[in-house]
Amino acid sequence: MTDTANTSGAQCGCLTPEQLRILREHGTERPGSSPLNNEKRAGEYRCAGCGTPLFRSGTKYESGSGWPSFFDAIPGALGTTTDTSHGMTRTEVHCAHCNGHLGHVFPDGPPPTGLRYCMNGLALTFVPRDGAT
Ligand SMILES: [Zn+2]
Repeated sequence: MTDTANTSGAQCGCLTPEQLRILREHGTERPGSSPLNNEKRAGEYRCAGCGTPLFRSGTKYESGSGWPSFFDAIPGALGTTTDTSHGMTRTEVHCAHCNGHLGHVFPDGPPPTGLRYCMNGLALTFVPRDGAT
């Protein structure tokens, strides 16, 4: 039995209920709660739902928002939709592969893109380069 990636995504038993709430139900973690806020090592950030590389460490920056923030994504890794919940119009970001909800993108980031990808740390898995721990 094959399950294509266009609906539920990976049926990975390793996700926590909180991760599932974010990825599948568009949840948001508490600001400042993610250990990835302080992650400074070189490496890449992958989708916690399916393992697709989404961001490189070189595009991460400290936005002060309390969520891991990036000014650019790996080309083709993300999809966006317009989110009008909570009385705001925002651009929602999801994994282009498994459709898992990741966070939002705002037009107030630094150069060169001017974008701020505001991500839930729980939706990401950091993989250090060179196998460093
Ligand atoms: Zn994914």
